[in-house]
Amino acid sequence: MSELIVKKYGGTSVGSIERIESLADRLVKEIKQGQKPVVVVSAMSGETNRLIGLAEKIDPDYRGSAYDMLIASGEQVSISLLAIALQKRGVKAQPLLGFQLGIRTDSTFAKARIQSIDTDPIFDLVGKSVVPVVAGFQGVDEDDNITTLGRGGSDTTAVALAAAIQGRASCDCEIYTDVPAVFTADPRLVSKARELPSLSCEEMMEMAALGSKVLHIRCVEIAAKYGVKIHLRSTFEEREGTWILPDTPDLATASPATSKGSSTMNIQIEQPVVSAVTHDANTAVFKLFPVPTGPDFLARLFDTLAKKGVVVDIITQSETTEGQRLAFSVTKEDIPLSRQALKDFVPNSEHITLIENMAKISVVGVGMRNHPGVAARFFAVLAKTDVPIHLVTTSEIKISAVIEQGKLKEAAEALHSEFGLDKA
Ligand code: ADP
Ligand code: ASP
Ligand code: MG
Repeated sequence: MSELIVKKYGGTSVGSIERIESLADRLVKEIKQGQKPVVVVSAMSGETNRLIGLAEKIDPDYRGSAYDMLIASGEQVSISLLAIALQKRGVKAQPLLGFQLGIRTDSTFAKARIQSIDTDPIFDLVGKSVVPVVAGFQGVDEDDNITTLGRGGSDTTAVALAAAIQGRASCDCEIYTDVPAVFTADPRLVSKARELPSLSCEEMMEMAALGSKVLHIRCVEIAAKYGVKIHLRSTFEEREGTWILPDTPDLATASPATSKGSSTMNIQIEQPVVSAVTHDANTAVFKLFPVPTGPDFLARLFDTLAKKGVVVDIITQSETTEGQRLAFSVTKEDIPLSRQALKDFVPNSEHITLIENMAKISVVGVGMRNHPGVAARFFAVLAKTDVPIHLVTTSEIKISAVIEQGKLKEAAEALHSEFGLDKA
């Protein structure tokens, strides 16, 4: 058993007083068995959305320090309630906000990156048998503004904390959520999705990058960089889930026991061509027409978007006799910042069309590197299911298309079957 164990619980796991009470019961049982937990929690489910809704009623485009101050407050509530529940059971617990733990970040509000964590408070508390209950998702910048790490960012708090602790003591990292494992597709969308016992950080990063929100992408990057093993598992069932392992080969089916330090690592096992179907239902597409021709306009536009922190995903452009057409996709969260940037570049708002309610569907797998024809099969499936494609992009281990949200389920199920991922 490791000396310490970071245990992160998502919004559903602390979504009601009953759930907080039963989480406290489970923690107390594990503490009695000898575990020394450092607990990280998200806001109660729905709370961060509610807070964002309040801000957007006043000004849908505002982003800045007041926004982060507001949306970080959900975690202040959940850590306090869990600490009270632990105290009631005779376990000493201390709720800690990001600033109290010295979680220093840069000042990119709503998407701040962690720069350093002071682990002294953790070791002091654990030394006194007090359970630290840490607010996920938040930090503090050099001017003492409260910052947030981006939606789903509590996972990143947990893994960063485990990485920081590992410098001084052995530390495991468990992420508890409302599904029992990482699956070959979101089990809420594809009923035949299969559980993956383990997968490499590389594959998990691709899945997260393509919208699978089961883990925040930046937590997987940190895990890969600092060698943190993540065990993703269910809050509601006591059984093993999925291991995301930093240094395994890309064996989606390897078990953690054989994948590290054993000769199994050297055996070449045939890869499945596609290891998962992922989707991002939070996609929006901006279409601009006409825009000035030539690369200069594009360079300035995308530079401005980048400076605002907008992550532009797929870009297409084409020349027509009436002018240049440009289309790009962003995540829904970035619509306000994108709008602000576009105002300066395309003053005539009639030339800008925003299409919301889009989704990105992707197939991902390191096995695609050695198998030609995946794109042909991908497009054939979408054609057969009559799904119009708005934007498309490929890399050596993934193919993604932006489609209408209404067609998402049908497309995901058809692709999942086509690439042999359905469970028996
Ligand atoms: P939490 O609040 O615990 O952080 P999230 O809602 O952020 O939980 O992430 C868990 C959700 O991720 C699941 O409920 C599931 O719908 C979704 N999900 C998307 N893709 C996958 C996948 N490939 N495997 C498992 N869950 C997935
Ligand atoms: N509460 C934050 C959110 O809803 C962070 C998290 O859940 O990880 O995005
Ligand atoms: Mg999450």
